[in-house]
Amino acid sequence: MYSPAPDRYDNKVFNRCGNSGLKLSAISLGLWHNFGDVTIYDNSRAMALRAFDLGITHFDLANNYGPPSGSAERNWGRILKDDLSAYRDELIISTKAGYTMWPGPYGDWGSRKYLISSLDQSLKRMGLEYVDIFYHHRPDPETPLEETMRALSDIVKSGKALYVGLSNYYNPELAQKAYQLLREMGTPCLIQQVKYNIFDRRVEQEGLLNLQEKEDIGVITFSPLEKGILTNRYLKDIPQDSRLASGSPFLKEQDINNDVLEKVRLLNDMASQRNQTLAQMALAWNLSKSSVCSVLIGTSKVSQVEDCVKATENTSFTEEELKKIEDIVR
Ligand code: NDP
Repeated sequence: MYSPAPDRYDNKVFNRCGNSGLKLSAISLGLWHNFGDVTIYDNSRAMALRAFDLGITHFDLANNYGPPSGSAERNWGRILKDDLSAYRDELIISTKAGYTMWPGPYGDWGSRKYLISSLDQSLKRMGLEYVDIFYHHRPDPETPLEETMRALSDIVKSGKALYVGLSNYYNPELAQKAYQLLREMGTPCLIQQVKYNIFDRRVEQEGLLNLQEKEDIGVITFSPLEKGILTNRYLKDIPQDSRLASGSPFLKEQDINNDVLEKVRLLNDMASQRNQTLAQMALAWNLSKSSVCSVLIGTSKVSQVEDCVKATENTSFTEEELKKIEDIVR
């Protein structure tokens, strides 16, 4: 029977999410990959439990994570039931709806019908009465924003989620409107999930990061390792057990061309000089930004979880180091 490490909270970093009362572990574990039915359950379970032992309290899911869609939530539900049920109050569990989940007009986007039905399905799959954070996964260009935000707010009022968040709302004007609506409805936006890493600066360029800082909304960054590129994974070759070799539709060979590899090598040298692995430096860089409360990693093995959590040991960068990173990625 699983018994968590007694020292799991010793010297671990928890950051306040915006101006809320909630603190998140600086490192959060995402279940997008490696938790579906196509992967080995024992490996998924081992990663989740090792993460909890190492002070990761936040686990991020979505209705469509798998494959097949729904299977990551089901497998996570099994881990919860078999191993973590006694620790529910130590966990922050999030899920989302917004991408295609079931056929017909009610299984996608942002209608009230879809969001409420989808969360009910997610709760059943995970065997939960409530999730801690429920996200709208992506903006819906057709449904009135007010309807989507009202559904999120009503979900909190019904007790099926404690907080709500937005994901992939990159347009600052849209994000600001959504924050305002949620605030007026008495259910302030807790957190925004965005892609952000040393290579991907869209949120800086489009002004979203500045807005989130001004509005004091918590930011959690996904794919902080650029799906594995910002690690030592591809420095020599394409490992057989890598995401790239698995034929993932989300990571292609052309994403790792010679120009990218050269930058990765230079960043890797720099990380060594800081006594960090490249993964640790990439996560530390994200965590050094004041509005980022947590980085949302994916892992395929326990050793990666162990490597990533050590990123919090050094999250400060000198001006010279920051400039060097900019020179490398330019
Ligand atoms: P990352 O950028 O963290 O990439 C994860 C991959 O990096 C792993 O699968 C692994 O690759 C490699 N890796 C991880 N740690 C190490 C390490 N220490 N050393 C070497 N390689 C390492 O994130 P993801 O793209 O997986 O996204 C993370 C989470 O963010 C998702 O699970 C999900 O919860 C969330 N997300 C949200 C989205 C949204 O729309 N809201 C979109 C995408 C993600 P390998 O498998 O090859 O070993």
